[in-house]
Amino acid sequence: MDKETLIAGLIKDGYLKTPRVIEAFRAVDRKDFVPEADKNSAYENIPLLIGYSQTISQPLTVAFMLELLEPRGGEKILDIGSGSGWQMTLLAFLVKDEEIKTGKIVAIERIPELKKFAEENISRYPDLKPVVRLELGDGSFGFSDEAPFDKIIAAAAAEKIPTAWKEQLKIGGRIVAPVKDSIIVLDKISKEEFTPRQYFGFDFVPLIGA
Ligand code: SAH
Repeated sequence: MDKETLIAGLIKDGYLKTPRVIEAFRAVDRKDFVPEADKNSAYENIPLLIGYSQTISQPLTVAFMLELLEPRGGEKILDIGSGSGWQMTLLAFLVKDEEIKTGKIVAIERIPELKKFAEENISRYPDLKPVVRLELGDGSFGFSDEAPFDKIIAAAAAEKIPTAWKEQLKIGGRIVAPVKDSIIVLDKISKEEFTPRQYFGFDFVPLIGA
């Protein structure tokens, strides 16, 4: 499968909807984020191994979660479990689109070798690299140095949404994260109140943390 066939399929199946997100999928090439051995499978709609028992997420899952997150130019977004860096770089593309002020992606990965892999991969996008701050650490605590965030997205499934994420989110902000085998969307409507939505039928690697 080639890139345009993958994108056309994601549009036809209703996973990709917003022109800007479709543009991001065209601009940030999944092939740049998969290991050498799997370059030929880069546009298959499946997760692929990136080492250390981790995967680059399935394109339909990334499309679905980005559409739920609704990233906008100028926003500051926390990306937990950056893995290959594909979603992190898609997010950088989506928040950079702003003439007045550019946004920022704060990304956290717990495996040093994958952090390095993501750094190498995003280097192919010199205009997007400065939009991202990539840190090694346990993302289950969020990243208080950079809080509050407009949005938070995670690629590894927790048992429940960590309290730190809720605290580090701006009022009016949104969390999109896997919990067990579902995707949860939380809209923060006041300091203590969240409106939840839940979508079933997905597979994620576990969030390993406190
Ligand atoms: N968005 C990534 C998906 C990577 S899979 C991509 O596009 O490639 C999920 C990642 O979460 C893995 O790399 C795993 O190492 C990482 N992870 C798991 N628990 C974590 C934690 N507590 N803090 C930070 N990263 C974590």
